[in-house]
Amino acid sequence: MTDLGIPASTIEVLRRHQFTIQKKYGQNFLIDKNVLEKILRAAEITREDCVLEIGPGIGTLTQCLARKAGKVIAVEIDRNLIPILEETLADCPNITLVQGDILKVDVAELLHRESGGRSVKVAANLPYYITTPIVMGLLESRVPVESITIMVQKEVAERMQAGPGTKDYGALSLAVQYYARPEIVAAVPPNCFIPRPAVGSAVIRLTRHENPPVQAADERKMFALIRAAFNQRRKTLANSLGNAPGLSVSKEQAAQALEKMGLSQGVRGEVLTLKEFAELSDLLQGVKIL
Ligand code: SAM
Repeated sequence: MTDLGIPASTIEVLRRHQFTIQKKYGQNFLIDKNVLEKILRAAEITREDCVLEIGPGIGTLTQCLARKAGKVIAVEIDRNLIPILEETLADCPNITLVQGDILKVDVAELLHRESGGRSVKVAANLPYYITTPIVMGLLESRVPVESITIMVQKEVAERMQAGPGTKDYGALSLAVQYYARPEIVAAVPPNCFIPRPAVGSAVIRLTRHENPPVQAADERKMFALIRAAFNQRRKTLANSLGNAPGLSVSKEQAAQALEKMGLSQGVRGEVLTLKEFAELSDLLQGVKIL
């Protein structure tokens, strides 16, 4: 089996198959063994595990996952990578390779069919152009995912992990932290990939909570408030909510609820914790999402 994860073998495989790198699919292949090790260590994969990999590329991470896991399911959109993967993964009988778009594949059905419904660990060097829909899709869909260990753009990792009052804190931080505990495990420079991405990268592990850390009576409404709060993050929270086209709440109602919570009327959404957004959502009882 060709040992991938070093520049020479990656270049050799791509040349031999006359493969043209598709920018539109966010193709940046990993060529650094230390980084692969870091992903594997953070993902804590054992023989008991079934792993879902999104975007196996030429199979660099996939080979490593297959050596550690009981089973690997890999979903790759680019048809031209399938013959390469069939070659690089020929010695790995515990891999199921699926050609398709991860945003269109019925992941719950795929996992049920391939893993018998047991929970899975996700590990991937993600295509950056669809990081948020992939991650939120996995977290919100309630497919049985135990943890997600992924390479993402550094700024996105920082936003996922950010806390209240910091510049990176926003709707993504709150959405991710509602479902999981984020932990950045490594910073990864552009020279660890072929071709080099224009941005820095980071490996982040999201460990799914068994139960959300806060209880809002209406989860949808809480997230609508969060989105409205950060859509106009320079405005006061009362103003942002009062102006939000998708919510039936006036500035005065919002200000009253904030006062009940002991918060100033001039407070901005960016300092509220997840618990406070849940409390606000429950206080704004009559408010509807339009
Ligand atoms: N895992 C490989 C590695 O680490 O070298 C490749 C990572 S590359 C950053 C992202 C991979 O995701 C590419 O192979 C790309 O073709 C694939 N991809 C892009 N969009 C996809 C989608 N919607 N569904 C599945 N795979 C996708």
